[in-house]
Formats: sequence, structure tokens, C-alpha cells
Amino acid sequence: LGYYARARNLKKCAEAVAAQHAGVFPDTEEGLRALPGIGDYTSAAVAAIAFNRQAAVVDGNVERVITRLYAITDALPGAKPAIKAKAAAITPKDRPGDFAQAMMDLGATICTPKRPTCALCPFNGHCLALKSHEPEHFPVKASKKAKPVRLGAAFIALDNKGRILLRKRENKGLLGGMTEVPTTEWTSRVDGDHTDASAPMQADWQACGTITHVFTHFELRLSVFRADNLVAHASNHGWWEPLANLDEQALPTVMKKAISQAIPEALKSTKG
Ligand code: SF4
Repeated sequence: LGYYARARNLKKCAEAVAAQHAGVFPDTEEGLRALPGIGDYTSAAVAAIAFNRQAAVVDGNVERVITRLYAITDALPGAKPAIKAKAAAITPKDRPGDFAQAMMDLGATICTPKRPTCALCPFNGHCLALKSHEPEHFPVKASKKAKPVRLGAAFIALDNKGRILLRKRENKGLLGGMTEVPTTEWTSRVDGDHTDASAPMQADWQACGTITHVFTHFELRLSVFRADNLVAHASNHGWWEPLANLDEQALPTVMKKAISQAIPEALKSTKG
């Protein structure tokens, strides 16, 4: 869901407002969209609701209302520009924020995905989907492709004091800045080595099975290996952490799964 990136973007956005706008938020859709972490939906929503700008606010609920109102047969996500243009054409100059919120409420409560309550809808005299008796056919969605599967390996290295080798991910990219156990070089586009040939050190690596984690755009399968009683050495690539402190580390769920696969008792929970 991108919560980690949201927190980083929130901070970057606050810094940009302080540094580039003397601490005052821009009040136009374009100005807001130029800020870190603010996209089409948020810039339009803030411009309309907070600053009374004539901006077309399109979330999933509004997409449904608009595609039904105009019987837009192009599939999402390709239909988004056409939906935005239609929404802009009916957004009034007067009280655009109220209009935006009313459209979102209409989609959430009346123009629902299944069995919309068209009898109560203020658009029921103009709605092309209702005229065709097929409101539930809209919005048309492109058929979903299966998520690609990426492979890799994770290494649970324990020293002779029972501490685990951890390292910090690069600040940019997926899970940026978070803590991890050493893994091979997998990315969302490229497989990493899924054997122990690329282990971070020579050791008697024991295979512990595989874990699967589903990210937004791909599924990751990590082969998990464990080695015990290693002699801890200073490393540029990480640090040795007592297992008792694991709950205090910024470990993403995929890393908690890998650790729990090798050491079931290490974490109280794999949620998070
Ligand atoms: S008339 Fe029915 S399908 Fe059309 S916008 Fe209203 S609730 Fe949705």
C-alpha cells in the first residue's frame, strides 16, 4: 500500500513547502501537483476542497459515476483521461469542493458497484448507463494480468552469541531505508540468485524453505538459508543485532517472514 513511501513523501512535502513556498501551501492544482508525493487526485481534491478551485476530483467512486453517466466503454486505466475530461466539464465554478465531495459520496452510497440505487440518483434523467439498463457493466476494466514472480534468496546469519546479521536498504526504491537480512540482488524486474551461492559469507548454510510475499506489482519468492555460530566480524554491510531487539527494528513484513521461516520463535508476530 506504499505506507513507507507516504511517510517519506509527507516529510519531503513539508520540507518543500517550508523551503520553496515560505511555509504556505500552493493553492492551485498545478502548484500542489508539483510538490513531492502529491498526484492528480490529491492535488485536485485539495485545490477544490481547501481552496475552492474549479478542479475535477476523480477517485474510484467518481470514475464509476462518470463512466456510467456517459456510458464510457473504453477500459480502465486507459479511460482515465476521458473520465477526467468529462468530470472537468461538469465541475461547477461555484462550490467545486462541495461538488467533488457530493460526487464521491454519490459513488460510495448510491452509484455502488453492484445494484446502484438509481431511483434516488440526481442524474437518473441523464444517465446513459441507466438508459441502457446496464449500469453494472461500467466501468469497463482491462482484464488483469497475473503478477510476475521474482526469485531471490535471504540469509539468516547468526553469530556465536545468537545475534543476527542485519543491514539497511538503500534509501531509494522499494522498502527504501528499511532494515533487512542479507538477500541476493532481486528487484521488481529482475530475479536474484535463489541459491546459497551468493551468500554474504562462507558458512554451512542450511536450506529452510521458501517464503512468498506479494507486492503491488509482483510476487517475490525468497529461498531462506540459515547458518549458526558464525564468528562476527566488523562489516561495512550491516551489524549484528540481538534477537531480543528484533521488534525494535524497521523490518518490513517480507523480512519478518524470512526470519520467522528460519527462526520461528524470533518474532512475536509477522504482521506489520
Ligand atoms: S442513474 Fe444509476 S448508474 Fe447512473 S449515475 Fe445514477 S446511480 Fe449511477
